[in-house]
Amino acid sequence: MKQQTKAIHSAFRHPDAYGSIAMPVYHTAAYQFPDAASMVESFSGRSGEPDYSRVTNPTVTYFEERVAALTGAESVVAYTSGMAAISNFFFAVSSKGRNIVTSPHMFGNTFDLISRTLERFGVGVKVVDLTDIDAVEKAVDEHTCCIFLEIVTNPQLEVADLRALGKITRRWGIPLAADTTFIPFTEFDAEALGVDFQLVSSTKYLSGGATCLGGLNIDYGHFPDVTKSLKTELLFNLGAYMTPHAAYMQTLGLENLDARYRLQAANSLELARRLETVPQIKKVGYIGLESNPFHQLAQSQFGPSGGAMITIDLESEQKCYDFLNSLRLILRATNLFDNKSLAIHPYSTIFVNFTPEQKAAMDVLPTTIRLSVGLEDVDDIFEDIVQALG
Ligand SMILES: *Cc1c(COP(=O)(O)O)cnc(C)c1O
Repeated sequence: MKQQTKAIHSAFRHPDAYGSIAMPVYHTAAYQFPDAASMVESFSGRSGEPDYSRVTNPTVTYFEERVAALTGAESVVAYTSGMAAISNFFFAVSSKGRNIVTSPHMFGNTFDLISRTLERFGVGVKVVDLTDIDAVEKAVDEHTCCIFLEIVTNPQLEVADLRALGKITRRWGIPLAADTTFIPFTEFDAEALGVDFQLVSSTKYLSGGATCLGGLNIDYGHFPDVTKSLKTELLFNLGAYMTPHAAYMQTLGLENLDARYRLQAANSLELARRLETVPQIKKVGYIGLESNPFHQLAQSQFGPSGGAMITIDLESEQKCYDFLNSLRLILRATNLFDNKSLAIHPYSTIFVNFTPEQKAAMDVLPTTIRLSVGLEDVDDIFEDIVQALG
């Protein structure tokens, strides 16, 4: 089956008693067994039958299997949020005395997790420019447990060369872990680019309508010890497994992800082109624009579409607040890749707990507005931006 067909048609493990064509929501904590032997089979993980919903649930399993079918992953685990997927991965891969090689450009909470929370457990971080392969070569050492990056950072919109980074991680025998939230995993073959683990905030593109939080670890099975820690240790001990209702909502989102993404990416390209002609906008950031320095690399890695996030730089911080306050259609909100267009001033919100010096080091500027482009008619989105600037 082709991708889009797989996204719609995946068989249930067990036929539904009523022939339901949507996967039922199994809102239960525990499961009954016919006999003691099948309990042993389940608790030892051999039968794959659920025993307790902190670690497995039929509705969540169904969602995970669909994602696995679409990505060719060996296994997929769904979590309560993107941060849960990311933190579980770091707890699996790192230990005291080891270090994570990563970029200063990333989602604020992930950076805080690495530089503050993991630091308390004795895990080090080496912050390096991941677009400078020589610098990465120098940063990795025998204590490095992984290279971690976001495939397109935001709000900086930086793209690193995954194939080149993958060569380094393979030489050291460590995983390349990528937060791929920014471009749907249905758009490109992450494993072929050298990625060993994809971490996704499924809150964003998958959920679409901002209906629920979710996270995914898409695991290509190259590091069995890490997989084992994730599935037989951390799922049990950290308790961050996705809830059945969220899995149901996100399965619905997965079915129309491709159609939504195409429209959002087309809207974004058209909007970015038009915004380049607006005099109050000093700079338009969008990887789908040929003028963007990462355009070619992004296309070679992620395909022809450039995602649905645009940044615009205005004259001053005050102009950013005036702009936000004048919006009539675009919502002032922090989500990304929602069906509705959203705008935020990252400097004063997502990065509010970082000092001005830290923000400068992360290239988070006080003059940047982040736009997440939705499914509205592009004429209306553009008109709202123009009137808000006026
Ligand atoms: C939103 C986001 C996260 C965190 O995901 P949650 O589902 O909000 O926990 C991580 N990485 C990126 C790139 C994100 O945009």
